[in-house]
Amino acid sequence: MVVMKFGGTSVKDPDAIRRLARIVMREQDRSGTPVVVVSAMSGGTDQLLDAVTAAARGDGAGAGHRISAIRDRHRQAATTLLSGDACDDVIDTLEKLWREISALLQAMAVLREVSPRSRDAVVSAGELATSRLVPAALTATGLPARYVDARMVLVTSADHGEARPELTATAARLHEHVRPLVQQGVVPLLGGFIGATADGITTTLGRGGSDYSASLFGAGLHASEIQIWTDVDGMLTADPRVVSGTRALPTLSFAEASELAYFGAKVLHPSTIAPAVTDGIPVRILNSQRPDEPGTTITANPPLPAAPLTGLACKRDITVVDVRSTMMLAAYGFMRRVFEVFERHETSVDVITTSEVSVSITIEDRRALAAIVADLAAFAEVTFEQDMALLSAVGERLRLEPGLASRVLGALDEFPLRMVSQAGARRNLTVVLPQSHLAAAMARVHERFCLLPAAVPTEVVA
Ligand code: ADP
Ligand code: ASP
Ligand code: MG
Repeated sequence: MVVMKFGGTSVKDPDAIRRLARIVMREQDRSGTPVVVVSAMSGGTDQLLDAVTAAARGDGAGAGHRISAIRDRHRQAATTLLSGDACDDVIDTLEKLWREISALLQAMAVLREVSPRSRDAVVSAGELATSRLVPAALTATGLPARYVDARMVLVTSADHGEARPELTATAARLHEHVRPLVQQGVVPLLGGFIGATADGITTTLGRGGSDYSASLFGAGLHASEIQIWTDVDGMLTADPRVVSGTRALPTLSFAEASELAYFGAKVLHPSTIAPAVTDGIPVRILNSQRPDEPGTTITANPPLPAAPLTGLACKRDITVVDVRSTMMLAAYGFMRRVFEVFERHETSVDVITTSEVSVSITIEDRRALAAIVADLAAFAEVTFEQDMALLSAVGERLRLEPGLASRVLGALDEFPLRMVSQAGARRNLTVVLPQSHLAAAMARVHERFCLLPAAVPTEVVA
C-alpha cells in the first residue's frame, strides 16, 4: 500500500484537484487502494493565521473577512467539481465548519485572547476543509473515497503548534479507522498537519507538517512507499527561489534528505524522513503538475550522485549569538549553562562553533532573543547579529573524499564567512554568512559542485 500526500498547490483549485484524482486513480491501478493525505489549499493556512492575528487585536470584522475569502474558495471548488446531493452535502458540511471557526474567532476577538490551543483549533480548518472536499471529488470521478478525521487517527502530545506524535496510539488508530477502508477498496482521505491529544483536543504538527503526517501514516501502516506530491520535479540541487539552473535529483539517501530538509529545503518537512527510516520505506517526491517526471526517490543506500555535492540548502533570517567568557569557557559546566538558557526559552539552536574564548550559536526563532541575551549576560559577555544566512552543502562524498570540504570552502574565499561547521557524520558542511551574500555564495557553490561530475569516479569512493 502506498501513502500519497498532496501539498497546498496540488489541491489549490478545481484543476489541481482533477489532476490529483487522475494521479490517485493511476496509483490505484498500479498498486491497489492508496491512503491519501491532503494539505490545506495553498495560502489557506496563512489566511487562517492572519484571521487569528486579527482576532488577537480585537478585529472581529477583519477575521471574518478572511474566513469569507477561504470559504468562498472552497465553495467555488465544490460547485465546479460536484453536483447534486454530493455537492450539497459538502457545502453544508463546510458551511458548518466555517460557522464554527467564525464563532471561535469572534469570541477570541471579544476577549482579545488567543491561546496556542485556540490557534490550533482555527488553523486546523484548512486541512479539515480539503479532506472533506477531495474525497467527494474522487468519488464523483468513480473512485470511491472517504473522509477520515485525522484527529481521530494522529494522536499527539498537547504541545500546540508543534505537537509530537504518539506512535503506538496512532498505529492502533490507523488499524481501526484506516486499514479497513483500504481492505474494502475505498480510498481513506485524511488531512495532514492536524491531530489531537488522546482526549480529543485538536493539535497541529508545525508548518509544513503534512509531509510528516504522511510519513507517520506510512510507517504506522507499513506502507511500501510514501509519495510527496508537490509543485517541483523532486528534491532539487538547491532552492529554486535562490539559485537558477537547479536540477532534480533522481535519488537521495535518507541521511542526505534529512540534512537538506533540516537546513531549509522546504519541499520536505524535516521530520518526514525519521518514520520512514525505521521501516526502510522509500519516500518519493513528485510533481503533481508533471506526474510523468520520475521525481526523487529517497532510500537508505542509493548510488552516489555524479556531482561532488548532492545538494545545497539555505535558511535566511538567522541570528548569530556570540557568548564570550575568557575565564569560564574551559571550565566544565559552562556549556551546560549556555544551553540551559536556550532550553529554558524553548529556542532550538542550529549551528554551534567554539573557539577558546567564545561560542557562537545560530537561532532561527527570535521571539525570546532579548530574554536569552539577558540570561546569558548574567555569566558571560553576549552580542548578537541578525540578518545572517546559513548555507549548507550536503553530500555523501563529503564523508568519503578528503579535500572536498576544503575545496568548497576555497570556492567561498571571497565571502565573509562568519561560522563554519562540519559535524561528526560529515555529510554536511555548513557556513553562516551575511544574508546579502547568500544568493551569490549559493550560485558559486552550486555551479562548481552540484552540476559537474565529480573528479573521483563513483567506483573509487564507493
Ligand atoms: P507543498 O505545498 O507541496 O508542501 P512546499 O511549498 O511546502 O510545497 O514545498 C515546495 C517548495 O519548496 C518548492 O516550490 C520550492 O520553492 C521549495 N524548495 C526549497 N528548496 C528546495 C529544494 N532543494 N528542492 C525542491 N524544492 C525546494
Ligand atoms: N497547511 C500546513 C502549512 O501550510 C501544513 C502543510 O501544508 O504541510 O504549513
Ligand atoms: Mg510543504
